[in-house]
Amino acid sequence: MGDGPRVREVLLKDGRDRSPRRRHPWILSGAVSDEPGSAAAGELVRVIASSGEVLGFGHYSPCSQIRVRLAVFGKEAPPTDWLAGRIRAAVSARADDPLLAGTDAVRLVNAEGDGLPGLVVDRYADVAVLRIATAGMAAARSEIGGALFELAGVRTVFERADTVAARRDGFAPHSGILAGAPLAGPVAIDERGRRYDVDTAAGQKTGFYLDQRDARDLVQHLAPGRRVLDLFAYTGGFAAAAARGGAAAVTAVDSSAEALERARAHVAANREKPEACPADLVPGDAFQFVRDTREEWDLLVIDPPPLARRRGDVSKASRAYKDVVLHALRRARPGAHLLVFRCSHHVSSDLFRKIVFGASLDAGRPLQVLATLGAPTDHPVSLDHPEGEYLSGLLLRA
Ligand code: SAH
Repeated sequence: MGDGPRVREVLLKDGRDRSPRRRHPWILSGAVSDEPGSAAAGELVRVIASSGEVLGFGHYSPCSQIRVRLAVFGKEAPPTDWLAGRIRAAVSARADDPLLAGTDAVRLVNAEGDGLPGLVVDRYADVAVLRIATAGMAAARSEIGGALFELAGVRTVFERADTVAARRDGFAPHSGILAGAPLAGPVAIDERGRRYDVDTAAGQKTGFYLDQRDARDLVQHLAPGRRVLDLFAYTGGFAAAAARGGAAAVTAVDSSAEALERARAHVAANREKPEACPADLVPGDAFQFVRDTREEWDLLVIDPPPLARRRGDVSKASRAYKDVVLHALRRARPGAHLLVFRCSHHVSSDLFRKIVFGASLDAGRPLQVLATLGAPTDHPVSLDHPEGEYLSGLLLRA
């Protein structure tokens, strides 16, 4: 691209340069005083303080509230191959990370956490699946596909459309192969001995929740001989980990009957013998299930979807979290372990702990916190960008 005259400029209002000077990658529309009418969505633009100083360069999104996602700070334009360079760094950080050993399924690129706002890439064995959330990344789609094909050692690079992000950021959603061979059905992965079939073409997000890998290890360790409840189970990542760990029985609840069919297969593929671990797959509302059931469990996993997608949803989400934890606690045997998660940036981990405390008081069941949980190291969060932190959990003993 170069620092030549063709790079258009976004000028900030007086006093609105604080955030980019603190290396925060987002320029919000309210901070902008002047922008190039002719710049295309996704173009690389130069961001200028009201003093005239160049603050950085980034992808322009004319319809988004986040008007520019900065790629670099300072007056030097990024090299033309900055995207490929960052992808290379992200891929090799995973390859060099001993904490990611033993699995062929890892997140290769975690958006802002890897200096690549708007791009998420998950690798499942020899398939890389990406999701694009910004006009800038959409404009660079074929370069990204080529770089991943070359660097990630995969057979296929596949894009899953993020239609919500595409609408918000003003680009055309796209699904399909970006490089390599066509997809040949679900992809079998081996996660530290656990076997899953990931539907990269039709499953949620990129197909599987890699951010819960370490928590699945925990569940597997805690499972021997226990009756396990997996609420909001999706394809039974936790239920299958429990089955592999020697659970006495597993119950998995999810509103998606299709996901539960996969959960059934995952439990079957991971337990030693069917008689050793009977599985009950319950399609329906997990909030209602846990109110109505009369059964009891000694290992309970509660992993709801992001209940607060916007700041305004926080109090409603808090009530929903409290409700499900409260009723789960009533079905927890003395000494039971619970893993409870929140995956919304708007509900902070502090607030979440208070919500769980409220449920514990109402249930009359004191709880011990044994560990705090979070996403593994293939989901880095940049200190410059706290909004990237979304998943946390508590390991509790009743
Ligand atoms: N625990 C899963 C991920 C859960 S994602 C894993 O580790 O793979 C959240 C899941 O909640 C989705 O599968 C979604 O289908 C399900 N869901 C959303 N609302 C629900 C509800 N009210 N009752 C039951 N399941 C629900």
